[in-house]
Amino acid sequence: MEKNRKLIIAGNWKMNKTVAEAVDLVQGLKRELGTVKEVDIVVCPPFTALNDVSKQILDSNIWLGSQNMSEHNSGAFTGEIAAGMLKEFSVRYVILGHSERRQHQRETDDLISRKLRAAHGASLKAIVCVGETIGEREAGETETVVERQLRGSLSGVKAGEMAETIIAYEPVWAIGTGKNATAAQAQEVHAFIRKTVGELFNASVAKRVRIQYGGSVKPANARELMSRPDVDGALVGGASLEIRSFSDIIKNSI
Ligand code: PEP
Repeated sequence: MEKNRKLIIAGNWKMNKTVAEAVDLVQGLKRELGTVKEVDIVVCPPFTALNDVSKQILDSNIWLGSQNMSEHNSGAFTGEIAAGMLKEFSVRYVILGHSERRQHQRETDDLISRKLRAAHGASLKAIVCVGETIGEREAGETETVVERQLRGSLSGVKAGEMAETIIAYEPVWAIGTGKNATAAQAQEVHAFIRKTVGELFNASVAKRVRIQYGGSVKPANARELMSRPDVDGALVGGASLEIRSFSDIIKNSI
């Protein structure tokens, strides 16, 4: 089935790469992927490498993303980075509510919704992450959990702002474990997410919203995952740290 949504594949480098390593990686990606037009390609380096990576990708088909941002615009928030500061480096996307931040930094849906509104205020495109733990899946609670995360994280957002917001379905049990959701499991939850977005906003937003899958995406499973009707891209962790594997995921998805 032909999808009318452009694929978006983002690499989340997490707390990896020195500035020199980040520059090497992005230069390699430019070489490998320079002719790709079918996919929105995004790299999300650590804050310390944003400036140098930003300079490397000027006039390229690679967009810059951040892994997090503050819900505040400025002020006494030691250690935080505001949306406006990210914009100085031409950051276009921001990952919000990654499960590692939900777990280690105790980020709640309420906080994520405030960050999302701050991102929209600065015209940043957010990638909002949702997903269940293995215990929740085994208890049959996947849809309940994902719906609660969507309702909480997207609260206060207007339909007009949703069109450019991306949802990433990242089952926590699949992140960094080498155990990806099957394409059928991913499709089932993606269809549920699209239906829920339709209920929260409207049918046209649901049709347009792009939903990425994340969790042990590799060159070998990318094609099959992307072939599903409601899978509109990928959020890639480990396999985005190498030129070859990230490029192959993108090439295999087209
Ligand atoms: C992630 O952290 O967003 C992720 C999907 O990681 P990995 O690809 O390593 O499972």
